[in-house]
Amino acid sequence: MDYDLGPDAEALRTKLRALIAAHIPDDFLGACTDDPEDLALTERFCKTLAADNLLALAWPEEFGGGGGDVWQQTVVREEMWAHHEPRGPQYMGINWVGPAIMRHGSDVQRGKHLPPIADGEVIWCQGFSEPEAGSDLASMRTQATVDGDGWVINGQKVWTSYALMAQWCVLAACTDPTASASRRITLFLLPMDRAGVTTRGIPSMLGPHHLNELFLDNVRVGPDDVLGQVGGGWRVIKDALAYERVGIARYARCDSLLARLRESLGDEWDRLPGGLRSRWVRAMIDVRVARLLAYTAVAQQESGQPDDATASIARIATTRTDQSVAELLMEAVGPDGLEGDRHAVLHGAVDDHWRYAQAATVASGTIEVQRMLVARSVLGGR
Ligand SMILES: Cc1cc2nc3c(=O)[nH]c(=O)nc-3n(C[C@H](O)[C@H](O)[C@H](O)COP(=O)(O)OP(=O)(O)OC[C@H]3O[C@@H](n4cnc5c(N)ncnc54)[C@H](O)[C@@H]3O)c2cc1C
Repeated sequence: MDYDLGPDAEALRTKLRALIAAHIPDDFLGACTDDPEDLALTERFCKTLAADNLLALAWPEEFGGGGGDVWQQTVVREEMWAHHEPRGPQYMGINWVGPAIMRHGSDVQRGKHLPPIADGEVIWCQGFSEPEAGSDLASMRTQATVDGDGWVINGQKVWTSYALMAQWCVLAACTDPTASASRRITLFLLPMDRAGVTTRGIPSMLGPHHLNELFLDNVRVGPDDVLGQVGGGWRVIKDALAYERVGIARYARCDSLLARLRESLGDEWDRLPGGLRSRWVRAMIDVRVARLLAYTAVAQQESGQPDDATASIARIATTRTDQSVAELLMEAVGPDGLEGDRHAVLHGAVDDHWRYAQAATVASGTIEVQRMLVARSVLGGR
């Protein structure tokens, strides 16, 4: 397999690496830290990328994008994830919120929401999961009850990433509990400052500002807030999740961390147990397999025929690699990697990677559910 995407892609990588080197400190570990400067840094960096048309590189120019292709966007996401995602929570806007609005939104919604995402001015969050409905979203209890020409929403969401930082939410609610599972849910584009929306952080090992609960208490929404069709939310969610699963290029971070580990150990490398060095080689192969599977899904996106199962296969490979690389790194650096701050080995990157990797096979749909999705696609059945 030739992973070379051509000279233009290499030039783009070089440009992105130079921008990252100029704007992002070596010890940056993402936006969800106790230091508010980390989030501010990501916001400034998104504007820097946007000024060069690099943030929404693959979006059509009419929506504020760079008019590029999905392979260029793949290069952007790989370089970003390899460097601890300096776009911060805004990667979600580029990765799936914008594309979902492009495909399912009205002209007014496209005009209103896409340019601010492409300009790096807005953070979105995803309000799908609930305390009793994660894998099985059809059983969600958040209810949108008809009121005049709009709805009143009541309910609760959970595990909502970046909700305290976000200005907007793609919110899923049940508009018809009597309808079939695939016709029950409607998606709403909801401003986080609308009356009745309350957000509460959930402290976790992913960092202080990552996960949140979202409470909806008599929140009013109108027909203009609906994304896609009333009752058509399931289709949009499936589509969005497929984009989300391919867009989180954590295999690129694994690649970079494995290389940094080898470099940082210097002569110590030869003193590592042979079994550990063999696992390092195996992990490098896993990274390449994950990259190849992601490229298969990207090729489908390019052809306009994205397939859920292909996206799930890519996600399964990436998250399994994430976890095996996390264990390997931790064993190789030992307790020195566990400080959880920027003075630890590789500036705390091993510790940071390990903590996130534990949740990787749950976020964006559990690995068990994705395996079932793949099995159904291969074997058929419900
Ligand atoms: C880091 C992180 C970030 C997240 N961010 C967001 C976010 O921004 N927005 C959002 O809406 N959600 C978010 N989530 C929630 C995530 O999507 C859910 O946790 C996930 O879909 C699983 O749902 P659940 O937690 O309710 O577990 P459950 O669905 O209750 O699953 C529990 C266990 O049962 C298994 N299981 C469930 N159903 C089946 C089945 N039919 N067959 C076999 N096994 C099954 C699962 O695989 C799992 O092991 C996030 C989660 C994490 C960890």
